[in-house]
Amino acid sequence: MTVLGAEDELGGPVRVHVETRGDRPSCPGCGGGVWSKDQRPVELVDLAAFGRPARLVWHKRRWSCPSQGCPVGSFTESAPHIAAARLVMTDRAGRWVTEQVGRHRRSVNELAVELGCDWHTINDTVIAYGTPLVEDPARIGEVEALGLDETLFARLGRWRTQHWSTSVADVRRSQLLDVLEGRSSTGACEWLTGRDQAWLDAIDWAPAASVLGCLLVVFGHQRARLYDPRLEVGLEVRSSDADVA
Ligand SMILES: [Zn+2]
Repeated sequence: MTVLGAEDELGGPVRVHVETRGDRPSCPGCGGGVWSKDQRPVELVDLAAFGRPARLVWHKRRWSCPSQGCPVGSFTESAPHIAAARLVMTDRAGRWVTEQVGRHRRSVNELAVELGCDWHTINDTVIAYGTPLVEDPARIGEVEALGLDETLFARLGRWRTQHWSTSVADVRRSQLLDVLEGRSSTGACEWLTGRDQAWLDAIDWAPAASVLGCLLVVFGHQRARLYDPRLEVGLEVRSSDADVA
């Protein structure tokens, strides 16, 4: 990347202008040589610099294909290490805000103030970077002791109607695994049936709560021991007990 210059306007963010270096690409349509068309500046929210909000102004190159009959015509360069397509924040700032929200529990609003940008810019970026992390199936890992807990999530509307959620946790490692809508056994049952059998088989302890019936069906084996963390009692379930439940 070549730094073209910096702009320091009183009261405004620090603006650093850059362009990419590197070889001329070939046409993604026909593979032939391309001509330089022009450069268009794209302003991206960047990490704060010198304690002030900063912008990276990327002068994106545009290329055109001279080949007659090639469907491409012209195209704009992409560089994911600078910024992901369609996001208005640099990649380094995107990673940083996602970590601040996800790991350090800072609010979106606080980061918007620090980087001098709109709330939606931060929120859209955190969703874009955070979703693959949250949806990574390996994030849950193997669980030996499963806990389910109903929590009052919010009071909404004119009558401040209670909306409940069910937290799914690994009680041995004190790690929250997921938050489900509602507190009926349906959500927990659906969530559990979405796991694979090997994962369910590794569970030694599970709650003896309102979802007892569901858990017995899901586990479907005699060695499951039910555990209620609030009562701190475990209860061994044999096949005869399962029939009763
Ligand atoms: Zn072409």
